[in-house]
Amino acid sequence: MTDRLKGKHAFITAAAAGIGRASAIAFAREGAEVFATDIDEAGLASLTEHGIARTAKLDVRDTAAVEAIAREAGTVDILLNAAGFVHHGTVLDCSDTNWDFSFDLNVKSMHRTIRAFLPAMLEAGRGSIVNISSAAGVFKAAPNRYVYGATKAAVAALTRAVAVDFITRGIRCNAICPGTIETPSMLGRAAALGPQGREMFVSRQPMGRLGNAEEIAALAVYLASDESAFTTGVAHIIDGGWTL
Ligand code: NAD
Repeated sequence: MTDRLKGKHAFITAAAAGIGRASAIAFAREGAEVFATDIDEAGLASLTEHGIARTAKLDVRDTAAVEAIAREAGTVDILLNAAGFVHHGTVLDCSDTNWDFSFDLNVKSMHRTIRAFLPAMLEAGRGSIVNISSAAGVFKAAPNRYVYGATKAAVAALTRAVAVDFITRGIRCNAICPGTIETPSMLGRAAALGPQGREMFVSRQPMGRLGNAEEIAALAVYLASDESAFTTGVAHIIDGGWTL
């Protein structure tokens, strides 16, 4: 532990797997008190071995549940919004239901959590909000990522809006835009493309490999910590050169 987040309280959504989980573990390792949430209770339970005892089931699509857990959590220094879903397809594959689901889970979820947690941050005069966006949609148009890209661009815009509105009141809000990161859901998307699926994702990487969730968590630690005190409203790309 190097205590980069010592004394800070962090609240994390989608913390049971992938980037959210790696961030929860990294935050705890750096000394933060972590409140980890997800819809996957078994995944959350396995966080105890990483020193994260405070966990709760939370569906970020449920406004009342988000508001209730924000009251329970009280003042936090760090809010990490990691929940998101990848819809595969073009505009022609995207029904209104698909569109609404993606925007609800990927964008409105962040609106819900920020609206619920920000008042206490403002009262405390400090807070770092980190939203997981994506290189796809913000820095690059990826094939078959029609509504996904639209949601992640909305996350970047929402991030800047929060940053500018509360910049004088001790609040910072940044987005992380990962490229292709080896997580359970990413491997599922690769498998759905067939036996060559993973190789196809690797072949578009100039570095010749996928990213890992710990590499994204390292950026999340920086943005959550006071080391990034002069940084707000930025969509930080971390993509192994995918967009070069
Ligand atoms: P993931 O997609 O596998 O999901 C992680 C967790 O989200 C799971 O534990 C799941 O239970 C939880 N979750 C799903 N629906 C939820 C809900 N309604 N409420 C609360 N939790 C819910 O993990 P990931 O691939 O690390 O993705 C995390 C974030 O990173 C997403 O926003 C994703 O869009 C973004 N992202 C991922 C990649 C990648 O290549 N993996 C690239 C760019 C951006």
